[in-house]
Order: sequence, then structure tokens, then C-alpha cells
Amino acid sequence: SQHVVIIGAGIVGTNLADELVSRGWNNITVIEQGPLHMPGGSTSHAPGLVFQTNPSKTMTLLARYTVEKLLSIEKDGYNCFNQVGGLEIATTPARLEELKRRHGYALSWGIEARLVSGEECCKMYPHLNSDMVLGGLHVPTDGLALAARATQLLIERTSAAGVRYLGHTPVTGIQREGRRVTGVHTPGGTISADIVVSCAGFWGVELGAMVGVRIPLLPLAHQYAKTTTVPALAGREINQLPNGMNATLPILRHQDERLYYREHGGQFGIGSYGHRPMPVVASTLGLTPREVDDKNMPSRLEFTSEDFDPAWKASQQLLPALQETEIADGFNGIFSFTPDGGSILGQPSHLDGFYVAEAVWVTHSAGIARALAQILTTGQSDIDVSECELSRFEEVQLSQEYVNETSAQNFKEIYDIIHPLQQRQSPRKLRVSPFHARQMELGAFFLEAAGWERPYWYEANKDLVPALPASWQPVKRDAWSSQFYSPISAAEAWKTRKGVAMFDMTAFHRFEVSGPGALGLLQRLTTSDISTKPGTVTYTLLLTDHGGIRGDIFVLRLEDDVFQIGANSATDLAYLHRESRIQQQTSPMQWMQVRDITGSTCCIGLWGPRARQVMAGLCTDDLSNRGLPYSTLKKTSLAGIPVTLIRKSYVGELGWEIQSSAEYGQYLWDAIWQAGKPHGLIAAGRSAFNSLRLEKGYRTYGVDMTIEHNPFQAGVAHAVDLNKKDDFVGKAALQRLAAQVPSRRLRTLTVNDGRSMVLGKEPVFYDGKPVGYVTTAAFGYTIGKPVACAWLPGGVKDGETVEIGYFGKRIRATVEAESLYDPEMTRLNQ
Ligand code: FAD
Repeated sequence: SQHVVIIGAGIVGTNLADELVSRGWNNITVIEQGPLHMPGGSTSHAPGLVFQTNPSKTMTLLARYTVEKLLSIEKDGYNCFNQVGGLEIATTPARLEELKRRHGYALSWGIEARLVSGEECCKMYPHLNSDMVLGGLHVPTDGLALAARATQLLIERTSAAGVRYLGHTPVTGIQREGRRVTGVHTPGGTISADIVVSCAGFWGVELGAMVGVRIPLLPLAHQYAKTTTVPALAGREINQLPNGMNATLPILRHQDERLYYREHGGQFGIGSYGHRPMPVVASTLGLTPREVDDKNMPSRLEFTSEDFDPAWKASQQLLPALQETEIADGFNGIFSFTPDGGSILGQPSHLDGFYVAEAVWVTHSAGIARALAQILTTGQSDIDVSECELSRFEEVQLSQEYVNETSAQNFKEIYDIIHPLQQRQSPRKLRVSPFHARQMELGAFFLEAAGWERPYWYEANKDLVPALPASWQPVKRDAWSSQFYSPISAAEAWKTRKGVAMFDMTAFHRFEVSGPGALGLLQRLTTSDISTKPGTVTYTLLLTDHGGIRGDIFVLRLEDDVFQIGANSATDLAYLHRESRIQQQTSPMQWMQVRDITGSTCCIGLWGPRARQVMAGLCTDDLSNRGLPYSTLKKTSLAGIPVTLIRKSYVGELGWEIQSSAEYGQYLWDAIWQAGKPHGLIAAGRSAFNSLRLEKGYRTYGVDMTIEHNPFQAGVAHAVDLNKKDDFVGKAALQRLAAQVPSRRLRTLTVNDGRSMVLGKEPVFYDGKPVGYVTTAAFGYTIGKPVACAWLPGGVKDGETVEIGYFGKRIRATVEAESLYDPEMTRLNQ
């Protein structure tokens, strides 16, 4: 097999070697700057608490696999995971509610979990101050990872399988030829490689810099202290067991004070996130010493006890037995934080043979390693790891300023109760559309995504709410779903369905693919035949070889060899860049250029039954249904501004996406606004937009469907043309899958009582058992009920009743046939 060099023998690097070996790859060298028996990275001192439950399905599944794997690594009669269970406690009413939500995540993602009373918490954990604890969430399969031991056993077993380990060997440079990485430099010479994987933990920034790849992580110190032995726990036999096994109490989280606890044979370990962020630059730490021990390692800094004082007081209050102890030992340990809290996995688009797996907790380590091993050996991970993708970041999100500020903020908020729509306060206004000044004048409420400010609703539309017909009046919401919401969106949805509204579509990714090879590239990568005539718009899918959905895109054929792509993320751009580069290497005459034109262009969605009347005042072209039918486009001018009119709509109404070069944006907005006045045109935001698209049954990639799903399951088979003459990525897999009955399907649900809101990620029960989860949800103003998309077993039929779990309540909902609004598409085709 290919020669793989792994940099770093922490929990991630050693797991990766092991996952590759188990897939038949054994030409592997692991290079570690520290001594192999204790390399001195974050793993060497990790207390190893594994709480699996996470709002993210991906992170939960990665953790679940890590637990399974650590349980299976055994020597001398014991394995590498002490399954003592995990207990998260609430000491405030708000946290008690949050635990109900976390219980929902556990059920959604398939983790056994139970909400328990304060009394039961104290039974499970007798040291707790019973006056403080209101209740808890108990996960019996959580526990303590014996991370350092697992690393040693993995080194042992992979060495026996032929993996070569080089300790005391710093990688000082990475060798490349053109766009291919060919080896690594060390003081002892160059080691050639076909694939280099950096598993260097918080040194990742330095390793990335060796090949010009910016790794957006910030090393931060985090305090961990051990108490002296609690007198009542002294002298027990269990205290003599090795680290990790010397515990029977569940691992404990006291998130109201940003603290967690584990037992070390009668001593307590206390981890705190309650202190100031303490950033570190790895390159300033110096070389790893030749001899590393418990106290002396580069990832362990001096304990700053003044930072720990509040944590110590809070701990003695929560666990009164600690009043009889002192702090025996403490340190400021370093590990990685990222701008969005996710790990960093994958390869840069401009380079072949270089991968990273960094900013990974012990909790997710084996899961991440397996995902990468699957990507290397088969091209696709079973678990959707897009939220860990290196390429998910926009360029501006890779700047040092952005990484430092957002990662430090994530440190502070790590245990906070965060609403799914809650926004960071800073940095804001990094990216604004040319319409921003007008949106401010209209009182836009902005939420941020990928650096863009996106209007959710406009206060200027407030007076429309009381005037809404009775059936459109917004229903009262509970306190949680009322956050980041305004009833104004009901009025904006009503205007879109009954009159006309304009939406800022600028933040949606737009790429241009041009050149003689452009058609060939897109034919090869997409599921539809796009060799249609210029002027057509095609909704199509990007797949993996396994038939998993990699993305959904719109392909606009502007000219014979010029295409515009409407895409979802920076990851789509990285994919197109990589694939175009590979194609050009094999057939240089078939060159093409892939450009991100998002920021240099802008786009307004003008939609609603009166949209054509507004356009009549701006453009003399024939914009009738015959002149410019649905799914076609035209370059023309509007009020004298060069524009592209694209006859498509994500909200299911007549209208156009009107796109122009960015410098015309404000003029264009003003011109449309003026022309629209006599027809009652309003500006509308994303809150209404989400509601309208859900009613129409349109999917959002990355949330409703991911690489884990195929088009038949996700209800997007209409975007697949299996009769397409050209071969395309995933075609063979789809031919096989087409014959199968999908075991699960993405379904639309409506809430029976017409008012109970859900927000996404809630578990769905069928016959009383959790069988699926909600992806996205909104109030459907047109149909007068909350609407949700949910993954359910394939056998659940139209019209059946299911229940959605929301803060411990069960909300009854009905499984609907596909589109709730205008399934015949008459509104779009008028
Ligand atoms: P590391 O273990 O740091 O391994 C990277 C290796 O790369 C190092 O050994 C380093 O020497 C080597 N290396 C770097 N540069 C080079 C080079 N140029 N050449 C050769 N080798 C190189 N996680 C949990 O899940 N649960 C917890 O309870 C938990 N508690 C924590 C408590 C503290 C105090 C700290 C600091 C971290 C904690 N973590 C916890 C986080 C966890 O420890 C880390 O995320 C994890 O260990 C990272 O593993 P890794 O293999 O990526 O990195």
C-alpha cells in the first residue's frame, strides 16, 4: 500500500495508524517529537472524561465509536475505558430545562440517557450538596478514557502489525513536488511518503505552515487540579488501581459554574473553564525535552492558582467533602480550540497527499481516526464529517484575528446554554451585501453566517402584523422558540404568498466555472444532464462514489463554456477546485477555471404573485411564462443595470433571482423598491424564507440531508438522471440503490395542535420509541401549523401520527405527503 507518514503519536495519531492497519494498510511510519512512552502532548495528561451527548449528531456518533473502541482495547485483564457513567447536574432552573433538551439530543442520536431527580443525583453521587442540585442527566455508557494507556497499547499492537514508530524525531519541514507532498524532513534526514497526515494536536498551526496551509485553531490553557484524598475515601482497595480504573463515581459536570469532576482513587480531579482565556503559541514552547514525565511536558504549564480560586470555592460548595481537602497538584494544560468548536479534518484543495486531523478531543479521537481512515481507503466516511471539514472555513475565517477571537470566545462559552440561533457579538459586519445601508434603514434584524450579515426580518413591516387576516395571525410561542423570532415574519410570509417581496440572496455561494473543460467537469460531477442549451437552470446533486449526497447545487449554463454554480458552502468550492485540478492534470486541453464570485456579485429574490407587475416597470423584455419560462435565465438590463434574471424560486412563488455585479447593488435595490411601491412590495427576511421553503418541501443541504443519505432516501431522486449518457460520480452506486426500498426517509411533518413549535434536532417517537429526529422546522404560515422535516424509518406511512420530543414534552405530529404547498407547481409555472 501507499506509504503513510503520521505526525504525532497522541491519541489521534495512534488511533489513525490502528484504523489504517485494520483496513489492510501497514506501510505506515508514525513520527513523534517526544519520547514514545509519554510523548508530552495533550493526551499525556488528559483526564479523559467522555461525555458523548452533543447537540451535533456527528460529534455524538464519533464519541460513541470512541467508547466502543476503547472498551475493546484490552491487556492484563482490563480495557481502556472505565464505564462509570456520566452525570450532568443542574443547579439553576434554566440548566434543568437545558438538560431536557440535551436528553432530546441523546435520544435523537441513539445514546441511552435518563433525566433524574435531584434526589437520585445525590444517590448516584453521594458527595453532592443536596440543597443545590435540582436534577440531572445520566448517561450510563459515558465514562473515563484511559487515553495515555490506550495510546501505548495502540503503539504496541500496530508495531506488531508492522507500523514503524520514530520517537524523539521532530518533523522540521514537509517536502513537496509541485502540488504533491512527497515526504517529511527530520534532523535525521528526509522520509519520503505518499501521504502525510498531521495529527500534531495544538502544534497543527506550525505543521500547516510548513506547506502553506492555515489551520484555524488556537491553543489555550485550561486548568485542571487534583485534591488531596478525601478522608472518608482513604484506604480503599480501588485507590490502588491504575489511573482511570481508580474511580467508581460517575464523571460529573457542573456546567452552571463551568466545572467538571472525576475521581482519582479517593482524590478528586477538577477541571475548570471558568477562568480567562490563556492563549499559547505552540512554537514558543520550545523543543520537547528528551525526558518527559507527569510534571515536565510541553503541554503542561505552571498552575496559576489565583485563576482557580473561584473554581475551588464553587467546588467546595457543590462537594462539601472537599472542604476537608486541599489542592494537591494543579496545572494549566494546553489543547486546541477552533472558531466554531468543531475538529479539523481533511485536506487542502491546492495540495495532494496532505491531510490533517487536529483539534480533536479524546472523546472523539477514535471516531475521527476511523473517519479519516475510511476517507483514505474508500473515499468516504460512514459518518458525515462535513462540520469537521478543513475546507468549511471562508477565507476571512482563517485570519489570525478571527481565529483568536472566536476560539477564545468558544472557550468562554463552552458550557453556556446556547440557543440554536444565538449569535456571536464579535466580529460582526465582516461581510455585508451592497443592500446593507437600505436594510438598516428598514430596521433589519441580522443574524450572521460565514461572516455574512443576513436580515431575518424587518421592523419596517411591523404594522402589517395587526392587519393580517385571522388565519395568518402568528400563534403565541413558548419562551425558548420566541428567541430570535418576531411575529413580523408572518406578515413577510403573507406578503410573499399574496403580494410581492424582495429577499437578499447575496450570501448564497456563487461560483463560476468556465473554459473548454467546464462542461466535462460538471457532467462528470453532477447527477443531471447539463449539456442543455445556454440559458437553462438545473437543480442537481453532487454525490460520492457510494451514492451519498455531497451537495446540492444549481447549475446555470450562461454560455457554451461558462457556467455559474449556486452552492452551499466553501467545501463545495474546495471540491470543485480539487476536481478541476485533477481533470486538467490528465487532459490539459480540457482546462477550466473555477472562481468564487459570491462577493463580487449580489442577488435579490423578487417573489410573489405580483412580481411580474413590478418587473414591468423596470424591464421591457418579454418576461411572460413563454418569454422566460421556469428554470431558464436571461442576461438583460433592469433600470439600466446589467443583470442576469434567473427564473427560479426557493419559496415556491412566481419570480426571479436578479443578480448583478456588486457595485450596482444599491442602485438596483432602489430601482426595484421604487417600481414595487405601487404594488405593495416589501423587503422580507430569512425567517419567512425558511418557513416558505419548508412548506414547499425544499431541502437544505448539510442539515436536512448529508453524505450519510442517498437521493432516494432524501426525496431528491427527481434531481437524478440515471439515463444520462455520460458517466458521473456515484452513478453505478445509484443504479444499485435504485432497486432497494429505502430503510429511512426524510419526511415532512405537521404539528397537530397547530401551535407547538419545535426548532430542529428533537427526537421523533413512533409507537412510543425514538426512531428518528427532526432536521429543520418552522411555523408554516400558509398552512397555519408548525412544519418539520424529519428522518424516519422507511415504513412509516403518509397520514400516520408520530410524536416529537420537546423539552421532555411529546408533541403529536402527522406525516405528510411531500410538498404541503402547491405540489403541482402552478404558482411557479404561471
Ligand atoms: P496530542 O496528544 O497533543 O498529540 C500530538 C502529538 O504530536 C504530540 O505528542 C506532539 O509531541 C506531536 N508533535 C507535534 N508537532 C510535532 C512535530 N513537528 N514533529 C513530530 N511530532 C510532533 N479531552 C477529552 O475528551 N476529555 C477530557 O476530559 C479532556 N480533558 C482535558 C483536560 C486538559 C487539562 C487538557 C489540556 C485537555 C483535555 N482534553 C480532554 C483534550 C484532549 O486532551 C486533547 O484534545 C487530545 O488529547 C488531543 O489529542 P491529539 O492526539 O490530537 O494531540
